[in-house]
Amino acid sequence: MMRTVPQRGGWLEVICGPMFSGKSEELMRRLTRAEIAGQRIEILRPPRDTRHASDELITHSGRRMRARRIESLDQISRLDAAVLGLDEIQFFDPGIVEVIDERVSQGVRVICCGLDMDYRRQAWPVVATLLARAEFIDKLQSVCLGCGGPATISHRIDPSQAQQVQIGAQETYRALCRRCSDDEAAVNARPLAPT
Ligand SMILES: [Zn+2]
Repeated sequence: MMRTVPQRGGWLEVICGPMFSGKSEELMRRLTRAEIAGQRIEILRPPRDTRHASDELITHSGRRMRARRIESLDQISRLDAAVLGLDEIQFFDPGIVEVIDERVSQGVRVICCGLDMDYRRQAWPVVATLLARAEFIDKLQSVCLGCGGPATISHRIDPSQAQQVQIGAQETYRALCRRCSDDEAAVNARPLAPT
């Protein structure tokens, strides 16, 4: 797709989709391109993301880049970078929206990636707002484990322990399409047959 980049400085890109759709890979790809062009980049992770060593971003496929875990939003306002990449954007505090706007107005290219929906198919409010404000949006899909079609849903395997903020890995979530997710929810809702 042809895209015209704003000539007068900053803009916002959002990469969204379900788990295992390669969002962080795509974030790294764009940041690596910027780095090759000699631009100063920073990768930021939310305070609650404790999956990785604090100074790295590691994707499910094992690719890694240096990243900074953000403890307060003020830190972002002070960073000296031409391109800011924010991973797991859904876990940042709502104030991140205004901080991003401010940085974009200062001429920074900001690239956010994260889940668009939780496992109940509710939009993450921060991500919904950023999608509305972004110049560029990419919605990625994974491959449905049920049928091989395009998956848009991060299906939670044990919904009885419901809690929106669970930073997941392969053992708790499956990428499913709408239809397979509905089917699986119906199976789980069925009472156990007497034995
Ligand atoms: Zn499916």
